[in-house]
Amino acid sequence: MKLFNSEELRSTISGEVYTKEDKEYTKLKRVKNLIFDPQPVAIVNCQSEADVVQTIRYCRANEWPFTIKSTGHSASGFSSGDEKVVIDIAALNQVVVEETSKRVRVGGGANWFNVAQALTPYDLAITSGDMGGVGVGGNAQGSGMGFFVRKFGITADRICGARLINADGEVVIVSKDKHPDLLWAIRGGAGNFGVVTEFIFEAHEGGTVLAGNLYYAFDQKTIQELADYLYHAPEELNGTLSFTTFPFTDKMPEKNKNQLVIELMICFKGRQINCTEILKDLQNFKGYLFDEVKPTSYADLFPPIDPSGSTLIFNLYTSNISNSLLNELTKELRESGDPRLIAQVKVLGGNFGKVENGAMAYSHRDSRYLVILRKGFAAAEEALAANEKWKKKWGLLKGFSEGIDINFLGITQVDELNQMYKPANLKKLKQLKQKYDPTNCFSGTLNIQ
Ligand SMILES: Cc1cc2nc3c(=O)[nH]c(=O)nc-3n(C[C@H](O)[C@H](O)[C@H](O)COP(=O)(O)OP(=O)(O)OC[C@H]3O[C@@H](n4cnc5c(N)ncnc54)[C@H](O)[C@@H]3O)c2cc1C
Repeated sequence: MKLFNSEELRSTISGEVYTKEDKEYTKLKRVKNLIFDPQPVAIVNCQSEADVVQTIRYCRANEWPFTIKSTGHSASGFSSGDEKVVIDIAALNQVVVEETSKRVRVGGGANWFNVAQALTPYDLAITSGDMGGVGVGGNAQGSGMGFFVRKFGITADRICGARLINADGEVVIVSKDKHPDLLWAIRGGAGNFGVVTEFIFEAHEGGTVLAGNLYYAFDQKTIQELADYLYHAPEELNGTLSFTTFPFTDKMPEKNKNQLVIELMICFKGRQINCTEILKDLQNFKGYLFDEVKPTSYADLFPPIDPSGSTLIFNLYTSNISNSLLNELTKELRESGDPRLIAQVKVLGGNFGKVENGAMAYSHRDSRYLVILRKGFAAAEEALAANEKWKKKWGLLKGFSEGIDINFLGITQVDELNQMYKPANLKKLKQLKQKYDPTNCFSGTLNIQ
């Protein structure tokens, strides 16, 4: 490894290079999960695709390991690392709508707020993660699970092309005709194959949806019945069940305040008449308290919220919300009622489940539910101290797992590639990694080797 020469790199790019000597370094090196305090050798603020090309070439020539950062939301801290060069692509956030084809070109550093703002005037949308501040780059290449998953699939389903900078610093056009194997790989293969400077997505109908939360008193049977109802419901209905003592409402009746409740977040995209029927059904479940479901525009689903904090998380796919899974999942919640702890069940099925597992790297079509457990901590030290306990918890929950989602990956799960991909998909991913990145330059992610 040669000395890192920021002047030499700076002279070849239009962006800035920040190293430990620069006052901006401390702020720029941060990732959203504050349990990580990375000490990269430099942060390269790329302003263009050409900057990405030059930075990769510089790193390769000087044997510097590098990693890619779009918005830095990876809970596993993938977008930075000690003694690495961070290729920061947040400035590549353009969104260009091709109205007739409904294709949308999105910069690899954009977030979902950027996308929703740009698509709204065209009444278009792209199914994605639920949070405006989250980056398209990592989200789309993991899964992209959110408000429209049962109707329009995951974000990876909507990728129909990309511009990618490969390990040699070359621009590669990816589409179903050009490098179709790379198209297959980036749809679920995380950032293992190059820097995507631009995605091409197939957008779908946007406009107004009916969205919001319904609340129920906590009861395991109600959870199971709701989960089953949502799974079998028309694909227009999407739902995530959360179990929490800290719901997103200020209307909770006095007797339920600070109690464990079920918060069902729905998003309905379809005919009003069907929705009215469905709402009536949902209001008839045992323990129903009240709801805040209302017409909402696609853009309003994605406020520019950009949270950071010290977080522990893990996830699993399952098809059975059994009593024993729920007992294990909600044990601490029932015992301590800790408002920083939240368990979630995202309900799948519908059009999401109609895609073949081999159609792309992403591998979890046959599971009915994605279960997530996450806890925020006041400080990084507290989170790290709790990690041993979390490892044990994951050990207990693993028996229920049919697989793991890359986007909600906890630090205790990062080595479990066999859980992230079906065997045939993992085999193909490893072959493609050998073909396109044999020296494993793109290792600063969930690493496929
Ligand atoms: C508050 C919060 C809410 C979330 N909600 C959802 C949700 O509803 N649904 C869901 O599916 N996920 C959700 N996630 C998870 C999120 O999708 C993943 O953490 C994702 O990796 C974040 O993408 P990013 O680009 O911001 O990541 P970063 O941390 O910037 O990058 C992570 C890794 O992704 C890769 N990467 C990023 N951009 C590119 C690119 N352009 N080219 C190549 N590789 C790239 C790199 O390997 C990088 O190291 C949420 C996360 C948080 C923190």
